[in-house]
Amino acid sequence: MLNSRNIRNDFPIFDRLVHGDKRLVYLDSAASSQKPQSVLDVMDDLYQKHYANIHRGIHALAEESTALYEAARKKISDFVHVPDPAQMIFTRNTTESINLVAYAWGRKFLKAGDHILLTRMEHHSNLVPWYMLAEEKDVKIDFAELDEQGLLDLEHFQKQLGHQPKLVAFTHMSNVLGVINPVKKMTEMAHQSGATVLIDGAQSVPHLPVDIQDIGADFYAFSAHKMCGPTGAGILYGSKKLLNEMDPFLGGGDMIRKVTYDGFQPNDLPYKFEAGTPAIAEAIGFGAAIDYLHGIGMEAIHSHECHITKYAYAALSEIAGLTILGPGAEKRGGVISFTLKDVHPHDVAQILDSQGIAVRAGHHCAMPLHQKLDIPASTRASFYLYNDEADIDALVLGIDKVKRIFG
Ligand code: PMP
Repeated sequence: MLNSRNIRNDFPIFDRLVHGDKRLVYLDSAASSQKPQSVLDVMDDLYQKHYANIHRGIHALAEESTALYEAARKKISDFVHVPDPAQMIFTRNTTESINLVAYAWGRKFLKAGDHILLTRMEHHSNLVPWYMLAEEKDVKIDFAELDEQGLLDLEHFQKQLGHQPKLVAFTHMSNVLGVINPVKKMTEMAHQSGATVLIDGAQSVPHLPVDIQDIGADFYAFSAHKMCGPTGAGILYGSKKLLNEMDPFLGGGDMIRKVTYDGFQPNDLPYKFEAGTPAIAEAIGFGAAIDYLHGIGMEAIHSHECHITKYAYAALSEIAGLTILGPGAEKRGGVISFTLKDVHPHDVAQILDSQGIAVRAGHHCAMPLHQKLDIPASTRASFYLYNDEADIDALVLGIDKVKRIFG
């Protein structure tokens, strides 16, 4: 078991109080996680001792910055078991990674009448880029349904593969239902029908051991800021074959091998997709976040979150009028979204906030899923390595107070 109290000592933000004298109970890591001191130090150190633009200068600082940036890429690829760091494209976040594929792969390889298969539990990041593409290319979008528990209906998924989609894109873990999808099996099923597979790993890589090679996806996207790293850095993993076949996404410096007055030749992977000066400090901070998580161990983090989730699920299930969205505790990661009878989620969140408890209220960038569940919004508590039972006890007491205020 992790000692979350000791872990909180690594995160300076937990030294502060909120609303005067309230202990910070941070239950919003699915939106963005807090940052350990080691990540802040590495970024500071870069700016104070090594900073220069990368890949261009022939001077000591440029070489040091470049080495640190490329070392971060290698750490991230090792973390998700990708043997060649050239397959790891630095982007700003998961959203940009998915848009990169929609733009550079979708626009080149999809044509009118082709199908894309998504699921009913996708985040807007894995919906809107495909809607934009569908509008432009007259591509048809299909959805795999969920069962009554909120788990993906694999039979329906198989049925929808009958449309022979060119692309199948799905989340590894739902940011609303907490459901962890059987991504390896889904990838195999999709590949058998001849589709290319993209996985949204925004909620999985921060919380579970993930082996992208073993899963076998063609594209896999995730963000640093949800895994103890800074904002502004994300990753798109791609199969070498597809990345090589795709045209560049953005044009400019660094993504070229040669430019003349007549045209250009794109650079090798991964630089072909990294135009302009990237988020250098953020990428290096991402590497430090990987060191931090690796030091604790992803198995340990996952089992801690399973424990906390079970504890929270049991406690929240006892509260009259509270309905948890999605399946039982044993089938989900560290996310619990719920509704409270006759109280709007914004009111729930506001009253919790007044007690120092940070949760999220709204549609969590999954409006269609909320429409499907026939609710306008929900309240979401999400857990990470620094949360413990005391945080859940505070949440339960906080919800009690909400109920008292609303009679
Ligand atoms: N997919 C899922 C499942 C998410 O939870 C999120 C973040 N809420 C995203 C994609 C988008 O991540 P980002 O904002 O870092 O691009």
